[in-house]
Amino acid sequence: MLNLESIIGLEVHLELNTKSKFFCACSNKEADEPNVNVCPVCLGHPGVLPTLNKEAVIKALKLGLALNGKINENSFFERKNYFYPDLPKGYQISQYQLPLVSGGRVQTEEGIINLERIHLEEDTAKIFHFNDLSLLDFNRAGVPLVEIVTRPEIKSPNQAKVFLEELQRIVRCLGISDADMEKGQLRCDSNISLRPKGDKNFYPKIEIKNLNSFRAVENALNYEIKQQKESWNKNNPPKHQITKGWDENRELTFKQRSKEEENDYRYFPEPDLPLIDVNFFKEQGIDIDFLKNNLPELPFQKRKYFMEECGFDAGQAKILAQTEPTGVYSKRVIFKLNEFLKEIGCSKKEISAKTKKLINKWLINQLLVLQKNSPEKEFQITPEDFSEFLNKILERKIPDYAGQEILKKIFETGKNVEEIISEYNFKTTENKDELKKIVQEVINNNPEIVKKINQGKTNIIQYLIGQIMKKTRGQVEPKLVQEILERELKK
Ligand SMILES: [Zn+2]
Repeated sequence: MLNLESIIGLEVHLELNTKSKFFCACSNKEADEPNVNVCPVCLGHPGVLPTLNKEAVIKALKLGLALNGKINENSFFERKNYFYPDLPKGYQISQYQLPLVSGGRVQTEEGIINLERIHLEEDTAKIFHFNDLSLLDFNRAGVPLVEIVTRPEIKSPNQAKVFLEELQRIVRCLGISDADMEKGQLRCDSNISLRPKGDKNFYPKIEIKNLNSFRAVENALNYEIKQQKESWNKNNPPKHQITKGWDENRELTFKQRSKEEENDYRYFPEPDLPLIDVNFFKEQGIDIDFLKNNLPELPFQKRKYFMEECGFDAGQAKILAQTEPTGVYSKRVIFKLNEFLKEIGCSKKEISAKTKKLINKWLINQLLVLQKNSPEKEFQITPEDFSEFLNKILERKIPDYAGQEILKKIFETGKNVEEIISEYNFKTTENKDELKKIVQEVINNNPEIVKKINQGKTNIIQYLIGQIMKKTRGQVEPKLVQEILERELKK
């Protein structure tokens, strides 16, 4: 058996969420009907002229900057010539020789993945095949895309999946794409080849096209690695590049048309669009430094914050920063909680310890779980209200045992903490007198039991606690009941 390593590279197509399409004024919103967001430009009629959508360039620039790529101030569009029914004008407007962005990297939990390039291009129409009939929908034709190409340095199918998940979080955080894989807003082609460990050569790769879920990417790559390992061990590694598809249902890859050589496309510069050079940026009022300085905090920076500034472990930080809104929410709650702890005189060490404990118990293990189970109810509770809830837990105005119930009610009704507390009339340490009365009542009503307890059968005390809990409809902390009961029994 050969000791083989996998070399994986990804090509990701990402639809930008601009208002209009790349080169015409048609809407770039999803439509219920096919072929409604169309015009002569995106239908590829002869003689029409494209007009560049500045918003698409800005959104791609944001991505390039966020991923630390080099912005090429002299890039340009080219025509990629090929014939296919989804492209009636016979060429796709893309970038080839010089992309908008060169290099860049994505920091993931599984290490850094370096990028080759990020370039702009237009999407094509969608084809639907029905037996001997094929239908075309041009709503997607001319939608702006960025293509993100990684270096062939991804080591495993899992790392490929983690990279895509992180990329999705980043573009959502930047607000440049919804990146929903099911809707085709984020599509991925994977290249994979194997080689004996220590060998620095690259061997012919297999390209797996159109993987439309994170799971599909991982499964297809795992399948392909297994296949290629067998070929290598039979001394018959892939001799030339092959394009394959992934059959989700049967969980196997199948051979498609062989890949065109790049020079088959006869790229040439698009004469109808301006150069994306320094003048272009100036004329369009695009200030790259401004864009760079106004990028939002990225997911990995948020995770870093939760780990380094707040002391959470990697798993906890991942949960707190799982989506852009959750990350912002968690930061706000922690900020408010810290403020409160400072106000009530906690030391730095106490603040850190209490924050970790409370956030882990109530945010990570309660609120975010509630939310995960009913995603339609995202953030019914404002961060301010949730911090208020935590303050009340700290002050024991909400007994610990009742916290879960109260939080659930707030989550379900959207009411604030005060409202829920008064509705539920939870007895707390503040209502000790009332509780004492009930305890006395129960003692008076059970002289036999009290006698036995006094004779040493102390475990019967649980019976009395049960009676008191019943009278208070379970709205008192059992520990407090026991304390008062024991004290009253000694009198
Ligand atoms: Zn159009």
